[in-house]
Amino acid sequence: MRCPACSGEGILLGSLGAREHFRCRACGADFSSAPEHADAPAAARPTRSAFLETYRAELLARYGWAGDPHRLSTFMASVTTTLNTKTASWNSTGEAVEAAWKKIGGKGKATYKALRALEN
Ligand SMILES: [Zn+2]
Repeated sequence: MRCPACSGEGILLGSLGAREHFRCRACGADFSSAPEHADAPAAARPTRSAFLETYRAELLARYGWAGDPHRLSTFMASVTTTLNTKTASWNSTGEAVEAAWKKIGGKGKATYKALRALEN
Protein backbone atom coordinates (compact mmCIF):
# COMPACT_ATOMS: atom_id res chain seq x y z
CA MET A 1 0.00 0.00 0.00
CA ARG A 2 1.41 3.35 -1.09
CA CYS A 3 1.13 6.55 0.90
CA PRO A 4 -1.54 8.86 -0.63
CA ALA A 5 0.57 11.94 0.24
CA CYS A 6 4.03 11.04 -1.01
CA SER A 7 3.68 7.58 -2.57
CA GLY A 8 6.14 6.27 0.00
CA GLU A 9 5.99 2.71 1.25
CA GLY A 10 3.26 2.05 3.82
CA ILE A 11 4.09 -0.14 6.81
CA LEU A 12 1.11 -2.20 7.94
CA LEU A 13 0.23 -1.28 11.53
CA GLY A 14 -2.71 -3.64 11.74
CA SER A 15 -6.31 -4.26 10.81
CA LEU A 16 -9.27 -2.66 12.53
CA GLY A 17 -12.67 -3.84 11.38
CA ALA A 18 -12.67 -3.99 7.59
CA ARG A 19 -9.79 -1.52 7.22
CA GLU A 20 -6.03 -1.93 7.27
CA HIS A 21 -3.98 0.84 8.82
CA PHE A 22 -0.57 1.91 7.55
CA ARG A 23 2.17 4.38 8.46
CA CYS A 24 4.27 5.85 5.70
CA ARG A 25 7.95 4.96 5.99
CA ALA A 26 8.95 8.17 4.19
CA CYS A 27 6.78 10.94 5.66
CA GLY A 28 5.23 9.29 8.70
CA ALA A 29 1.62 9.92 7.65
CA ASP A 30 -0.98 7.44 8.83
CA PHE A 31 -3.51 6.17 6.31
CA SER A 32 -5.86 3.27 5.93
CA SER A 33 -7.54 1.29 3.23
CA ALA A 34 -10.13 -1.39 2.89
CA PRO A 35 -8.50 -4.76 2.20
CA GLU A 36 -8.53 -5.56 -1.52
CA HIS A 37 -10.79 -8.55 -1.12
CA ALA A 38 -13.46 -6.37 0.51
CA ASP A 39 -14.40 -5.05 -2.93
CA ALA A 40 -14.84 -8.49 -4.47
CA PRO A 41 -18.51 -9.41 -4.71
CA ALA A 42 -19.51 -12.35 -2.59
CA ALA A 43 -20.07 -15.49 -4.63
CA ALA A 44 -23.76 -15.41 -5.43
CA ARG A 45 -25.64 -18.42 -4.20
CA PRO A 46 -28.32 -19.67 -6.56
CA THR A 47 -31.78 -18.81 -5.27
CA ARG A 48 -35.26 -19.88 -6.29
CA SER A 49 -36.30 -16.32 -7.14
CA ALA A 50 -33.22 -15.94 -9.35
CA PHE A 51 -34.06 -19.19 -11.09
CA LEU A 52 -37.71 -18.26 -11.69
CA GLU A 53 -36.77 -14.82 -13.01
CA THR A 54 -34.06 -16.19 -15.29
CA TYR A 55 -36.19 -19.09 -16.47
CA ARG A 56 -39.03 -16.71 -17.32
CA ALA A 57 -36.62 -14.63 -19.44
CA GLU A 58 -35.33 -17.78 -21.16
CA LEU A 59 -38.88 -18.81 -22.04
CA LEU A 60 -39.64 -15.38 -23.45
CA ALA A 61 -36.47 -15.46 -25.53
CA ARG A 62 -37.14 -18.95 -26.92
CA TYR A 63 -40.83 -19.58 -27.28
CA GLY A 64 -43.53 -17.61 -29.03
CA TRP A 65 -46.23 -18.88 -26.68
CA ALA A 66 -44.44 -17.24 -23.73
CA GLY A 67 -45.33 -13.88 -25.26
CA ASP A 68 -48.94 -14.54 -24.25
CA PRO A 69 -49.08 -13.12 -20.69
CA HIS A 70 -51.89 -15.48 -19.64
CA ARG A 71 -50.13 -18.61 -20.89
CA LEU A 72 -46.84 -17.52 -19.36
CA SER A 73 -48.35 -16.77 -15.94
CA THR A 74 -50.24 -20.09 -15.98
CA PHE A 75 -47.03 -21.88 -16.89
CA MET A 76 -44.96 -20.11 -14.22
CA ALA A 77 -47.65 -20.94 -11.66
CA SER A 78 -47.24 -24.64 -12.47
CA VAL A 79 -43.47 -24.29 -12.10
CA THR A 80 -43.92 -22.68 -8.67
CA THR A 81 -46.41 -25.36 -7.63
CA THR A 82 -43.97 -28.06 -8.70
CA LEU A 83 -41.19 -26.48 -6.63
CA ASN A 84 -43.37 -25.85 -3.58
CA THR A 85 -45.09 -29.22 -3.44
CA LYS A 86 -44.41 -32.84 -4.37
CA THR A 87 -46.75 -32.41 -7.34
CA ALA A 88 -44.83 -32.54 -10.60
CA SER A 89 -47.11 -30.48 -12.83
CA TRP A 90 -44.13 -29.10 -14.70
CA ASN A 91 -41.31 -30.91 -16.48
CA SER A 92 -37.89 -29.74 -15.27
CA THR A 93 -36.07 -30.85 -18.40
CA GLY A 94 -35.54 -28.77 -21.51
CA GLU A 95 -33.02 -26.30 -22.85
CA ALA A 96 -34.66 -23.23 -21.27
CA VAL A 97 -34.40 -24.87 -17.84
CA GLU A 98 -30.80 -25.90 -18.42
CA ALA A 99 -29.86 -22.42 -19.64
CA ALA A 100 -31.48 -20.72 -16.64
CA TRP A 101 -29.92 -23.24 -14.27
CA LYS A 102 -26.42 -22.57 -15.65
CA LYS A 103 -26.94 -18.80 -15.55
CA ILE A 104 -27.77 -18.77 -11.84
CA GLY A 105 -24.70 -20.92 -11.14
CA GLY A 106 -26.50 -24.22 -10.64
CA LYS A 107 -24.29 -27.31 -10.56
CA GLY A 108 -25.07 -30.55 -12.38
CA LYS A 109 -28.58 -31.26 -13.61
CA ALA A 110 -31.60 -29.10 -12.86
CA THR A 111 -33.51 -31.91 -11.18
CA TYR A 112 -36.66 -31.46 -9.11
CA LYS A 113 -34.55 -32.23 -6.06
CA ALA A 114 -31.93 -29.59 -6.91
CA LEU A 115 -34.55 -26.98 -7.77
CA ARG A 116 -36.62 -27.62 -4.66
CA ALA A 117 -33.48 -27.29 -2.53
CA LEU A 118 -32.89 -23.69 -3.70
CA GLU A 119 -33.23 -21.05 -1.03
CA ASN A 120 -35.75 -18.29 -1.59
ZN1 LIG B 1 4.19 9.46 2.85
